[in-house]
Amino acid sequence: MKKTGKKLIAAALTAAMLVSMAGCSGNSAQEAAVETTSAEATTTSEETTTAEETTAEETQAEASAEEMQADIVVIGAGGAGMTAAIQAVQDGATDVVILEKMPVTGGNTTRSTGGLNAAGTKYQEEEGIEDSVELFVEDTMKGGKELNDKELVTVMAENSSAAVDWVNEIGGDLSVVGMFGGASVKRIHRPSDTSAVGPMLVKALNAKLEELNVPVLLETKATKILTDDNGAVCGVLAEDKDGKEMTINCTAVILATGGFGANAEMVVEYKSDLEGFCTTNHPGATGDGIAMAKELGAAFVDMEQIQTHPTVNPDTTTMYTEGVRGNGAILVNKEGKRFVNELETRDVVSAAILEQTDSTCYLFFDQAVRESLKAIEGYISAGIVEEGETPEELAEKIGVDGAALAETLKAYGEAQKAGKDEEFGRESMELPLDQPKYYAALCAPAIHHTMGGVKINANTEVLKEDGSAIPGLFAAGEITGGVHGANRLGGNAVSDIVVFGRIAGTQAEDYVAANGGHTEAEITVAGEEAAAPEVAGNYKDGTYEGTGKGNNGDIKVEVTVKDGNIISVELKDHSETEGIYEAAEKGVVADVIKKQTFDVNAVSGATNTSNGIKEAVNDALSKAQ
Ligand SMILES: Cc1cc2nc3c(=O)[nH]c(=O)nc-3n(C[C@H](O)[C@H](O)[C@H](O)COP(=O)(O)OP(=O)(O)OC[C@H]3O[C@@H](n4cnc5c(N)ncnc54)[C@H](O)[C@@H]3O)c2cc1C
Repeated sequence: MKKTGKKLIAAALTAAMLVSMAGCSGNSAQEAAVETTSAEATTTSEETTTAEETTAEETQAEASAEEMQADIVVIGAGGAGMTAAIQAVQDGATDVVILEKMPVTGGNTTRSTGGLNAAGTKYQEEEGIEDSVELFVEDTMKGGKELNDKELVTVMAENSSAAVDWVNEIGGDLSVVGMFGGASVKRIHRPSDTSAVGPMLVKALNAKLEELNVPVLLETKATKILTDDNGAVCGVLAEDKDGKEMTINCTAVILATGGFGANAEMVVEYKSDLEGFCTTNHPGATGDGIAMAKELGAAFVDMEQIQTHPTVNPDTTTMYTEGVRGNGAILVNKEGKRFVNELETRDVVSAAILEQTDSTCYLFFDQAVRESLKAIEGYISAGIVEEGETPEELAEKIGVDGAALAETLKAYGEAQKAGKDEEFGRESMELPLDQPKYYAALCAPAIHHTMGGVKINANTEVLKEDGSAIPGLFAAGEITGGVHGANRLGGNAVSDIVVFGRIAGTQAEDYVAANGGHTEAEITVAGEEAAAPEVAGNYKDGTYEGTGKGNNGDIKVEVTVKDGNIISVELKDHSETEGIYEAAEKGVVADVIKKQTFDVNAVSGATNTSNGIKEAVNDALSKAQ
């Protein structure tokens, strides 16, 4: 359990803004800047010029939008966007702003569990693992059914080792090497405590952005990329959570909005047989960047290539990382039998599961596998794993034939000992699966990754159909297509976002330097604001403890009431995912204090954790009546 022990106050990340007087028509914006004091700055009525024909309504909306200036606007504070922003600043950029539509940074990146694939790292060398850029490229092309853009794959592989070093340099932790589906050798790099890669990466990126004073405007959704008469990028139109519009004039834009795995309509538009599938993606993965790039005439590749992840709990959509299978787990069907090489690529394993009874199966493992991977503790505390002292006891609980399961395990144990899986050809069999307790988790395939997206070149420039680049527009991460072809290998997306995020940052900064140079930063990070009650409370003074159920187990809080008002909510204990937990903490606690009730809105993207905090506050307040 993580201890927080800190008093919680609302933390509002707001931008102190200067209002500039001109739009995309020129750089006179800086010269004519008029100072205002805060995010509540009044709007200007200056007109904005876009390359596109706009309706009268749009023109009016853009005209009344608040105007600001930055050199580089990064759209999306996921792994790719935050990496790009940091790299740009490390290369000399002085005026970078990130827009994030959700109340929390991290996107799908926070959810990534397995790790980052890299070849030729010092960690592989220490373990005597023989790997190379060529082998990494070969595995990735094979996994992607040769549909991948080999130039992009090569760039990813060549820069992957440096990506591991960069993540570690900015405060991350990638030092343990493991085996994952589709890789010929151990290549996936993970945190030393075997915890999920995403929360570690997002935490490190957030901390680095804070250190570098890069403003991240949360709950600010980019709606349009503006271009000048020459078709060069010159700004971004966005709106805040209250629907208030703003225009940020800029020289370069980095599109890092992620994929569209949470946009069911768009998924079905490109791949109709995925109708009705659930998704592992965060709610913000709606393909906004695709729509914005389309308006500018960007080319797209592989849009119909949408990956399902084979092992997802169909009730909670919790994804069991491939690391569970990589560390030794097998898949058994409802008849208690194995049916596939569990380490085959995701498309193969997903297809095999869909052929089983009820299109589901069980992820089966023993105590030794459980102890090899911290992520498993999260699944167990979420109550989605059954357990038994013997395979037969477990089989009875999950309604599977016990004798058949025992027979399957015996055969697997023998194959593991012999080092040869005659039946399914699994090569890496880490453990014999004979250590009680035994565990089984129900799973089925779910939409996981959208491999297609905007077409980029090796410099992350967004290309049009004719192969020309849209001046000033760069893209990185899941918004782009080409790297993963027809099937992404586990661990390759995290390599993708760090490698191409860094390239996008460097390229955007180079572009700014070559096109007018730096401007003075107008949008800056403001400090934290304490939440204050907006209505009077009616509670008994004192300090009260309460417990609620979060995503990964109990959340414990301590609520302090003074003069009848809730004045603080301290989170004492929780096992929630970092990043998600912080967002829920900020949003819910601030609202509880403002509104003097537990009954406040959950933070979007952190719903279960928010509800756990609310339940704990309600429990505490029940003692203060
Ligand atoms: C459950 C799960 C597990 C995974 N595990 C692994 C793994 O182990 N290894 C691996 O390599 N890959 C893994 N992946 C894939 C990988 O996490 C993603 O492909 C990758 O993190 C995408 O990063 P990104 O920065 O491109 O997008 P994201 O991290 O999704 O970030 C995009 C951001 O843009 C924001 N945004 C979107 N539209 C707008 C807008 N209009 N305005 C402002 N902001 C906007 C979003 O809210 C989001 O925060 C996993 C994915 C999931 C869902």
